[in-house]
Amino acid sequence: MDLVILTTESQVGDQLLTPAGLPDAGIVPEPIQLPYVNRYASVWQYDRDVRDGKIDWDVVLGSRCPVCGVLDCHREITAYERVVIELFPFRRARIQVPRFLCRTRGVTASLLPHQLAPYHQYTIESMVLALLLVFQVCAEDGVGVLAALEELPADSGVTPWLLACWLVTVLRGFRRAHAVLAGWAMLDGLRAARGWQGRLAEVHAYCSAFSPRGPPGPAGLRRLVRRYSATAGRHLVGRPSQDRGRGRPR
Ligand SMILES: [Zn+2]
Repeated sequence: MDLVILTTESQVGDQLLTPAGLPDAGIVPEPIQLPYVNRYASVWQYDRDVRDGKIDWDVVLGSRCPVCGVLDCHREITAYERVVIELFPFRRARIQVPRFLCRTRGVTASLLPHQLAPYHQYTIESMVLALLLVFQVCAEDGVGVLAALEELPADSGVTPWLLACWLVTVLRGFRRAHAVLAGWAMLDGLRAARGWQGRLAEVHAYCSAFSPRGPPGPAGLRRLVRRYSATAGRHLVGRPSQDRGRGRPR
């Protein structure tokens, strides 16, 4: 059975990525979503410190409003909770996301840990590692994507449709970041691919470039995701609300 390849924003389906759709129901849409670049090894450690009040958001943000840049404009408002899913190992739980009001513009901003992609429940690391695993199983065992999906944790809820969405979303993020990433690793010869296997191979090629001493794995990926957010001021994967409605993604 061939799986349909999704290639455009509309085909990816915002219904999947918005609160009303699958599987991100429960996420409150935010006007502005900014990355919170942190040094936590996992979002679970981050959430524990948030709930224990160990993160001083005044220190994290400084005195300039993260939205408009005006001094002392912003103030913290009630945080919201969103579901986060990690695949390796599997865990599903709610985390708190802090919110701030920009009083000059009258909009709210949330600080989303850099490990997450806006409008996705699964962590960026989970999405990419799942794609790498499927690529590897397909290549080594000569099986199709559907069979390879069985290698993912039981009850993880990853369907072929969701995997196809991740493939588009992750590659869109990598391609958008290509110029920055090319300054950190040798990406010569990496070209935009087509088809399931070609696109999976492209994800593998990107990740391999950032794991020069071994097969692509979580450690290198974790460093890459953090470094990109720290450098570019945006999430490596995913399209925040402020970028939506601006035409086709690059
Ligand atoms: Zn402001």
